[in-house]
Amino acid sequence: VRILGIEGTAWAASAAVFDAETDGVFIESDAYQPESGGIHPREAAEHMHDAIPRVVERALEHARETHDGPATEPPVDAVAFSRGPGLGPCLRTVGTAARALSQALSVPLVGVNHMVAHLEIGRHSSGFDSPVCLNASGANAHLLAYRNGRYRVLGETMDTGVGNAIDKFTRHVGWSHPGGPKVEAAAEDGEYVDLPYVVKGMDFSFSGIMSAAKQAYDDGTPVEDICYSLQENIFGMLTEVSERALSLTGSDELVLGGGVGQNDRLREMLTEMCEQRGAEFHAPEPRFLRDNAGMIAVLGAKMYAAGDTLALEDSRVDPDFRPDQVSVSWRTDEPD
Ligand code: ATP
Repeated sequence: VRILGIEGTAWAASAAVFDAETDGVFIESDAYQPESGGIHPREAAEHMHDAIPRVVERALEHARETHDGPATEPPVDAVAFSRGPGLGPCLRTVGTAARALSQALSVPLVGVNHMVAHLEIGRHSSGFDSPVCLNASGANAHLLAYRNGRYRVLGETMDTGVGNAIDKFTRHVGWSHPGGPKVEAAAEDGEYVDLPYVVKGMDFSFSGIMSAAKQAYDDGTPVEDICYSLQENIFGMLTEVSERALSLTGSDELVLGGGVGQNDRLREMLTEMCEQRGAEFHAPEPRFLRDNAGMIAVLGAKMYAAGDTLALEDSRVDPDFRPDQVSVSWRTDEPD
C-alpha cells in the first residue's frame, strides 16, 4: 500500500508518500515564515495556496518514479489529508487539493485528525503497543491514551498550546518566529528565577507563567534566566502530568509528539522520569515531530487498510477537530 499524505493545518505545506511495504517515507515540505510577529492566518492560507501544488507535484513525481506497476495504474492507493484541527482557511486549501487529487487519480480519500497523527507516528516508529502520548505542539498540549475505541484526552492545557505560549514570549522580546529553538539556545546560559508553575489535577495552564515571564523581562531580568526557567517550569509541568497519566493508565510506554518535542531539555526530563518508573520512552525523529505530511500518510495507510475512507460529500474540514472525536478504526486491540 502506498499513500499520498497532504498536511497544511498551520505553517507547513507538506506532501508525503508512505510505502507500507518498505516503511519508506518521502516528505516534501515548504514552511511559511512570517516576516514579523507570529502566524497570520491569512498569510498562512496564501502560503498554502502557493506551496501545496508544488509540494504535491514533487511527492507525486517521487511516487511515479518509484512505482513499479503499469503506467496506467495510479502511483498511490489513496490520498490522505489533515482535516483538522488547524486554521480554517489553510485546511480548506488542503481539503480542496486532496479532493481534486482523489478524483483525478480515481483513488479513495482518507480524512486524518492531525493530533492523532502526531501520536500514531510515535506508536508506529516505536513499535509500542498501547502508549500514553504527550502531544507538545504549537497550538496544542495534551495527554492521550487509547480506551474503548477512542483516544481519550487525559489532561490538557487550560489555555494556549505549549509552542504558542513560548512563541508569545519571544514575540514580546522581539525574536523572530518560531521562538522555541531560540528559547532553547538562550536557556543554556541561564539560571533559575522564580516563575509560576500551574498544574491542576491532570490539566495545566501557561497563561500565568507567560505573563510573569514578560513582566520579568520588562523588569530587567536577564533573558537567558527567563528562558531557562520557562523551560524548567513548562516542561516540568508536562513531565509531571505525563507521569500521572502513566500511573493512571498503568501503561509503561510513553511517546512524544509535536514540534516542541524537538526540544532536548523536554526529552531529557521525560527520559529521566520514564527511567525512574521503569517505563520506556520514545521520541520520533525531528522530521516526524514538527508538522509534516509523513505522519498523515502513515496514519492514512492504517485507516485505508481498515476501510476507513471518506465519501466526497462527507469530507468537510474541521478547524476544531478534537482527537477524542475520532472513532479509531485501525486498532483491533479491544478493551478490558
Ligand atoms: P499543531 O500541531 O498543534 O497544529 P503547530 O502547527 O504550531 O501545532 P508544530 O510543528 O507541532 O506546529 O510545532 C511548532 C511549535 O514548535 C512552534 O511553536 C515552535 O516554537 C515550537 N518548537 C520548535 N522547535 C522547538 C524547540 N527546539 N524547543 C521548543 N519549542 C520548539
